Amino acid sequence: MKTPTQIHAIDFDSAKLQRLGFGQPSSLPRRPTTVVQLRQQLVQQLQVSLEVERILSVFFREIQRLVPLDALHYRHEASDLRLEFGQRGHHCVSYNLSHEGEHLGELAFRRNQRLAEDELGQLESLLATLLYPMRNALLYRAATRSALRDPLTETGNRIAMDQTLHREIDMARRHMSPLSLLMLDIDHFKIVNDTHGHAAGDSVLRSVAAVIKSQLRNVDMVFRFGGEEFLILLSNTGRDAAGMIGERLRQAAQAHDYWVEDKRVELTVSLGCSTLLAAESAESLLRRADSALYVAKREGRNRLAMAG
Ligand code: GH3
Ligand code: MG
Ligand code: MG
Repeated sequence: MKTPTQIHAIDFDSAKLQRLGFGQPSSLPRRPTTVVQLRQQLVQQLQVSLEVERILSVFFREIQRLVPLDALHYRHEASDLRLEFGQRGHHCVSYNLSHEGEHLGELAFRRNQRLAEDELGQLESLLATLLYPMRNALLYRAATRSALRDPLTETGNRIAMDQTLHREIDMARRHMSPLSLLMLDIDHFKIVNDTHGHAAGDSVLRSVAAVIKSQLRNVDMVFRFGGEEFLILLSNTGRDAAGMIGERLRQAAQAHDYWVEDKRVELTVSLGCSTLLAAESAESLLRRADSALYVAKREGRNRLAMAG
């Protein structure tokens, strides 16, 4: 008689993640632990991720086995990071994390009840396990961010734009919310270069990017599309609102004083605006904004045209 064969498949990665505490939270009561044990576990658990948010959320969850807390706040200005876990508490202890002179952010523990001396000692001992994982995660974050940024204008580059545009289209579909796009091109920019030189052109380009960002709530949605062309993604924004934002950008760009050495340079921009249609592709949305921009140029520049 033939015996049926049982095949067991083990997903090693997910098994490991589960064991290290990255899986679904277990409903089993967790055993009390000592600082030494918890430190050892944290050293293992924290090295699994390179994401600051994930590292801190595991840290926040695990340290509560020894020191119950209401909230953990983290701030690192240089990487534009602000994270909060849990609810606010009245009492706060904060620590500046640094490693070999390198600032790794500020961490604040909050609790409604005052933290006792021995609890502070435990927290400080556990904090040490964060240093290397946080340093690595911050380095990783800086590297991935710089791979997605245009160094001259401090806006997103084409790779970032592609990723964000596809993500935003998916979101707009899922939530049935409007999505608009502005394509902005500096008028007669070649003249700036020809008259004042390429370096002056670069500095004007930087100023235009800064003006655009100063007018928008979400600066992560501004991308350098080409030489002197920018793309602005407006999530949750329909045609009329996008037209108003575009017009505001046009006016701000015109009103700004651009200086090259001690000479003021007059500058205007043209814009094309398109709003996502049902079942439209990213390429088509871009193409329609580009055609509208072309119309704005043809009709005399320093204006906004809406895609049909
Ligand atoms: P239009 O109003 O039709 O847009 O005219 P334009 O002169 O702005 O357009 P055109 O496409 O003819 O020229 C764009 C110029 O932008 C040419 C190019 O040298 C310049 N440019 C592109 N990228 C950079 C850059 O990174 N730095 C500088 N300084 N100039 C750039
Ligand atoms: Mg131009
Ligand atoms: Mg151009």
